[in-house]
Amino acid sequence: MTERKQLTTAHGSPIGDNQNSLTAGPRGPLLMQDYQLLEKMATFNRERVPERVVHAKGSGAYGIFTVTNDVTQYTKASVFSDIGKQTECLLRFSTVAGERGAADAERDVRGFAVKFYTDEGNWDLVGNNTPVFFVRDPYKFGDFIHTQKRDPKTNMRSSTAMWDFWSLSPESLHQVTILMSDRGLPQGYRFVNGYSSHTYSFINADDERFWIKFHFKTMQGIKTWTNAEAAAIVGADRESSQRDLFDAIESGDYPKWRVCVQVMPEEDADAYHVNPFDLTKVWPHGDYPLIEIGIMELNRNPENYFADIEQAAFEPSNIVPGIGFSPDKMLQARIMSYADAHRYRIGVNYASLPANRAQCPIHTYHRDGQLRFDGNYGDAPNYEPNSMGGPSESAQFNEPPLKVSGAADRYDHRDGNDDYTQPGNLFRLMSAAQRAQLFANIAEAMDNVPERIKARQLAHFYRADPAYARGVAEKLALDIKPIAALARLSLSELIDSTSEENYAGQQVAARPAAAGA
Ligand code: NDP
Repeated sequence: MTERKQLTTAHGSPIGDNQNSLTAGPRGPLLMQDYQLLEKMATFNRERVPERVVHAKGSGAYGIFTVTNDVTQYTKASVFSDIGKQTECLLRFSTVAGERGAADAERDVRGFAVKFYTDEGNWDLVGNNTPVFFVRDPYKFGDFIHTQKRDPKTNMRSSTAMWDFWSLSPESLHQVTILMSDRGLPQGYRFVNGYSSHTYSFINADDERFWIKFHFKTMQGIKTWTNAEAAAIVGADRESSQRDLFDAIESGDYPKWRVCVQVMPEEDADAYHVNPFDLTKVWPHGDYPLIEIGIMELNRNPENYFADIEQAAFEPSNIVPGIGFSPDKMLQARIMSYADAHRYRIGVNYASLPANRAQCPIHTYHRDGQLRFDGNYGDAPNYEPNSMGGPSESAQFNEPPLKVSGAADRYDHRDGNDDYTQPGNLFRLMSAAQRAQLFANIAEAMDNVPERIKARQLAHFYRADPAYARGVAEKLALDIKPIAALARLSLSELIDSTSEENYAGQQVAARPAAAGA
């Protein structure tokens, strides 16, 4: 038998009794001087860090990324320098809307955040299992998330808030279609694709820039639940995705993803028919085919969930030489907001925590701050420039200049933007069975939503494809003719005619004779 270690306080003082608190007489009361009890209770009170405002419920694992294809013509990033090169990585999956105790098998987007511990610093891709997002301007992000969270009065999720916001924001239609499709309810994290969603850039050794989208294709296949299947799963197991991922890795069945990129030469961006920096759009594969760059395998469960996953901090601002940003407005805002959230949630020195610490040398002039536990650079100079031999910059790591132009203004992001063709393309590639599931999922999700909001949303479906609207209308027993009329209106007219004051509810409610017509 191994010898048991001596129990101590947090400060190393041996503890003689961990069963009985210090009391005046056997019946109490407690003595204030029982510092062991006070330390234990006070530490317990502080066990939780604030949960993430979004993506609170997550699961993760460590793994290895292996380069399988030479992409040095596009990027000088050291992570891609040689075929066969391996880099350790950490992947955290999550649901978006649920709190830390929420069930896994819920219809929701899945977060797909990867940290690559490269030899030139940490590179994070903080994406989702969907290639697009609900909004394209970060101004709308907080509003959108409020619609997914709890209603201020009922403290329950509100389908009315969701569909009200979506139907007033047609740029959401692409992502709404994916969310309501079969792919909106994955069987587990091993069975989802991951996407950078944003456009990033590659920069090669000749300082040429390419626009890049990253795709992680699951090698386990896409597997999804129907709503009914998921309801049964949740009733029996709220941690179905966590369990599936943990058990697979523990048993040596390591999940893998084929990592691919789409590459757009820098000069294509201006002329391309889609704004390549619009987060609500994909680049059709026919235009920019997928190029495989590597394989990512998850092969090690965390030893301690809190240390490795809850304290893991992923941030799109973590880039490395050879990989850069793009003008995508949502990406630009996330560059600020993720690191900002970590400083609030786990503290200003979060980069020193084991899960977040880069595995290459780190030399900064940042000092002090709460919970500085790494030596704080000892007696090294804390200012720059200095003539004391402190770390200094190297111009070789500067990016080539990026041409930007235009007068500063608040430009209407909906002006001249086609929010319908790509959702329509997605609808048209669905099989009859997938369409039937889409219609049923939407009808179920619209339960209790006022008819005027349903009508407004159906007008958007109609614009993407009349068959899309017809399928949903049939499930909701709504008449398609007035929907078709609404679909011909401009967005402001549509909003106006479906306002509480102007909407005449009887216009789309199918009369019994018309039901199913
Ligand atoms: P392709 O036929 O080349 O690709 C279709 C893509 O759709 C595949 O990547 C497929 O993923 C994916 N897909 C299939 N069903 C769903 C679903 N329910 N939810 C999300 N993705 C799904 O067509 P295009 O490249 O021309 O794109 C057509 C439409 O496909 C787009 O408008 C977009 O909605 C969707 N799409 C396109 C992507 C892209 O980057 N071009 C990426 C993902 C979706 P898989 O290969 O894993 O089966």
